[in-house]
Amino acid sequence: MNTSQSSASQNITILGATGSIGVSTLDVVQRHSDAFNVFALTANTNVELLFSQCERHKPQFAVMRDEAQAERLIGKLKSAGSATNVLSGSEGLDWVAGHEETDVVMAAIVGAAGLQSSLRAAETGKRLLLANKESLVMSGALFMRKVQENNAVLLPIDSEHNAIFQSLANGAPGYAGGVAKIYLTASGGPLRETPLADLHGVTVEQACAHPNWDMGRKISVDSATMMNKGLELIEAHWLFDVPVQQIEIVIHPQQIIHSMVAYHDGSVVSQMGNPDMRTPIAHGLAWPSRIDSGVTDLDLMTMGRLDFEPADRHRFPCIALAEEAANGADSLSIALNASNEIAVEGFLNELIRFTDIPIIVEKVLAQVDAQAVGDVDEILAVDDIARIYAREILRQRQI
Ligand code: NAD
Ligand code: MG
Repeated sequence: MNTSQSSASQNITILGATGSIGVSTLDVVQRHSDAFNVFALTANTNVELLFSQCERHKPQFAVMRDEAQAERLIGKLKSAGSATNVLSGSEGLDWVAGHEETDVVMAAIVGAAGLQSSLRAAETGKRLLLANKESLVMSGALFMRKVQENNAVLLPIDSEHNAIFQSLANGAPGYAGGVAKIYLTASGGPLRETPLADLHGVTVEQACAHPNWDMGRKISVDSATMMNKGLELIEAHWLFDVPVQQIEIVIHPQQIIHSMVAYHDGSVVSQMGNPDMRTPIAHGLAWPSRIDSGVTDLDLMTMGRLDFEPADRHRFPCIALAEEAANGADSLSIALNASNEIAVEGFLNELIRFTDIPIIVEKVLAQVDAQAVGDVDEILAVDDIARIYAREILRQRQI
């Protein structure tokens, strides 16, 4: 514990501080500066934003993943007379995640890049606020085992999983007593009503224009393909130890209900709120207490209707691909995630069409060996090979 703070305050390390979740986390933390002390902040390349966050929150450590950008950050902080120490590379990320003075870790790096530092936080028994769903998709069994063995406190930040957590009887991941079904809600994204024939011409701007949430670009595209919901299906399976067959994806365009748990006695319990990630973040920070998040109150009288509809696998083939991976060997979920990351990056760089994303994922799933994986090295080996396959297919489909 940092001795300059009151003994009641918790040291928080935010992995991916410059992203959408990172910025929202700092917003909530700042409202409770008596309870939380910002210990470390990390970013990939965004020196300007990490620098201004350091100026404001005065962390003990800042980590720049990119070595060259780390040098720039050191220079800027030095000129500003800052006492923040700068580290770099993935070793720096792992070091702050597992640091003995870190009490709480917000894991908000996007994609597979967040795997090692999230696992490090689990291994060192932290209170782990998990936004980085990709790490759980890649390493589900291993991740949950590390959480258990090291008494980490795992709190889901993905809004649906946070809602499920809140709707489970004892509010703890891994507990699913009496549960008949989990309804995983989805907005359907910005392309829910686009004519099917127009999907191949969807632009990056259209795919990233989410109706309810302002998110990073990768998860925005995942929401448009609904691969996000596919990843979340796998995430829910591991977090709550519920068979994939017991999880149903439901489109709920208003995004007021953030998911539901149906019990054997006929009860259906849900969590509602305005779509603002500061609610699950504040919940994770304070659990089992509640703190103010800055989110506007839900106005029931003006909320209007709540609609529900099934998710169309024909329009959203990524859901079926994720279901296939979830029902298969471990390597398939890793390959699903890796190939999707390559395909989404290709789409964001305008190398392929929107409709090529599921095609690339499908071809990679057909190519990888379906096998069980044990440790991180095996996980990373499957991730590597799936990326190689995906890049080759992407090259062939380049426009
Ligand atoms: P973002 O793109 O806005 O931010 C990503 C963060 O990760 C940035 O700080 C960036 O510097 C860092 N980063 C990127 N690549 C990195 C690398 N190679 N090494 C180290 N750091 C790297 O993403 P986001 O929308 O904040 O999403 C973060 C995670 O939270 C994702 O896993 C996403 O699925 C999940 N999530 C996001 C939302 C949301 O509303 N944005 C909701 C639910 C879950
Ligand atoms: Mg979500």
